Amino acid sequence: MNHSIEEVIKAAKIYLPNLNERRLYRAYEFAARAHEGQIRKEGSPYIVHPVSAAYILTGLRVDEDTLIGALLHDVPEDTTYTLEDIEKNFGKKIAFLVEGITKLSKVHYRHNMEERQIESLKKMFIHSAQDIRIILIKLADRLHNMSTIGAIPKPEKRTRIAKETLEIYVPIANLLGIWELKGQLEDLCFKTLLPEEFEHIEELAKESALSHSDIVKRSISQVKRMLAANHLYDFEIEGRKKTLYSIYRKMVNKGRSFHEIYDLIGIRVIVDDIGECYQVLGVLHQNYTPKLGRLKDYIAIPKSNGYQSIHTTIFGVDGALSEFQIRTKEMHLESEYGVAAHYFYTNEKDKKKSFKKMQKKAGWVKKILEVQRNAQNSHYLDDLKLDIFQDRIFVFTPKGDVIDLPKDANIIDMAFHVHSDLGRRAAGALLNGTKESLNTTLKTGDVVEIITSEESQAKIEWLYSVHANLSKHRIKEFLKTLSTEKSIESGWRILDSRIKVYGYKGVNFLSEEQKNKLIEKFLQKNWDLLLCNLGNGNINVNDAIAELFSKSELIGEEINTDYMKAYVEGSDRVHVSIAPPKIHKVHLKIETINRVGMLRDISDVIAGNGVNILKISTMILNEGSSSELEFFLEIRNINQYENLVYAIHEVPGVLKVNRVQSDESAQINSNDFHKELSQ
Ligand code: MN
Repeated sequence: MNHSIEEVIKAAKIYLPNLNERRLYRAYEFAARAHEGQIRKEGSPYIVHPVSAAYILTGLRVDEDTLIGALLHDVPEDTTYTLEDIEKNFGKKIAFLVEGITKLSKVHYRHNMEERQIESLKKMFIHSAQDIRIILIKLADRLHNMSTIGAIPKPEKRTRIAKETLEIYVPIANLLGIWELKGQLEDLCFKTLLPEEFEHIEELAKESALSHSDIVKRSISQVKRMLAANHLYDFEIEGRKKTLYSIYRKMVNKGRSFHEIYDLIGIRVIVDDIGECYQVLGVLHQNYTPKLGRLKDYIAIPKSNGYQSIHTTIFGVDGALSEFQIRTKEMHLESEYGVAAHYFYTNEKDKKKSFKKMQKKAGWVKKILEVQRNAQNSHYLDDLKLDIFQDRIFVFTPKGDVIDLPKDANIIDMAFHVHSDLGRRAAGALLNGTKESLNTTLKTGDVVEIITSEESQAKIEWLYSVHANLSKHRIKEFLKTLSTEKSIESGWRILDSRIKVYGYKGVNFLSEEQKNKLIEKFLQKNWDLLLCNLGNGNINVNDAIAELFSKSELIGEEINTDYMKAYVEGSDRVHVSIAPPKIHKVHLKIETINRVGMLRDISDVIAGNGVNILKISTMILNEGSSSELEFFLEIRNINQYENLVYAIHEVPGVLKVNRVQSDESAQINSNDFHKELSQ
């Protein structure tokens, strides 16, 4: 990743035809003189670093001042030359950029780790409001440092830098939508923090690269011909590269094998206007079989971060699953370069519009900072950092105020974000004018009017259905104000219902031995206190369940999906098995009212959760007033299972969902079943 000043100038001239080469060269010579005699850890002269950072920035097509700022970025900090010297030689604007970067690095050195991370996070955001270019230089600086991180001898130091990068720089790159840079940073962090896993995936990717690139090539030429046959000639089509870290994360989060992710072909088609996007989609769907449920129209409904494209997955060349992204040039520019696209590439006419978009992002950032400033509790700050990692959605109050929430947030989340009191008394909601239950998941653009009632109050179950950490925090605060009797009652209820979800008989059937095991494990004085702490959220009911029943009785080993979280909480390493995920056979008995379409509705929910159905049987009960449906399913992990049970409960007319704990379900041979299917 080391580059020369000639390479920087060459790369910049491609998109900056009027580049003042002499000015750039003067900055280079100034920096080279200032850093004279300094040697980097990996053995090269120091000047290589600022020059390489400037080269990275040419990839973002930044302006001339930003390149000069990058060349000079370490001068006041690490040499005898001062900011005044820079101002004298290069003017106020450049000095302003360099000063911004110098300030950022000071924040790093002063505080202990936790504080410093938060501080630098804040500072960077605040600076972003002032000048986005300072952040871009800082990101390029970090990317180059990460690329040479192997030269740092102390492993603790490498880990610390990589963690900081993952926790602060990656989310910022993500926030600004600079995907290319974000992906590179992530892969370097991945390599530093989980070297074995990194190597393993790198190895697998090398093995598969050849056959993979052949299919991509053939897909591209086939699609080119089809588009031409439909009189579409002016487009770009390219294969999309997946980063190793993104593959790894999908393996861990979604429990998929390497090949399921890697072998999914990624192709991007870029056209001139929106009409053509839909034309391309039409051509693809006419010629190939689309995979159900995979068409996503982010042009009609952009993602909360403004991302636009059409995504569809088809069975392409040789039946290979291929995901297409279709977008216009403008959308492409924005998705590749993020905010930089607005800052540097828009003509005067579009500048205003772009600026508004940028400000919208900045507004969100400001809000986070405010919450952080007011928060006293440090654990709460950790939670908040987690929220920043997740995709956000934006929903509206009836008055039109925007509330931003993490992805998958529900109506309870929304209520607690507006106000603690509104959350506590929420009884239901009008979602876009229709009455919906509190558990309903929200999407960007939803208008939500919370309905409150005096009798209604927050309960322990909510703690397990909300998604935002702020809501969890506020629910717990409220539960702590309830009486001991009430908490014991709630604790009993949540434990009982959870036990039953897994096919056991309930709290009343627990043995004294099992109860004592829980009391001891959670360091409680007696059974009532244990229930009380379950009821107010001090003890997590899932931990209690895991203690009561062995993991295999529940559902196999649960894969740790919270990779990021583990780092934030400071544990050193997360162990994740790379082996293909286990499939667990699960037998569900579902009691429902007898109505037309019930079987189909439930089957749809199961398929919609990505669960494979092995066998179904139905039985009419109570002289036709209700039915019992039995499903034999293949479940990947406990999260998938819980989501599924929850979703089935939501189907209108479902009375009961029970898991049958027996090995009769294990006797169905999945291969035989597939044979039956294909006959
Ligand atoms: Mn630097």
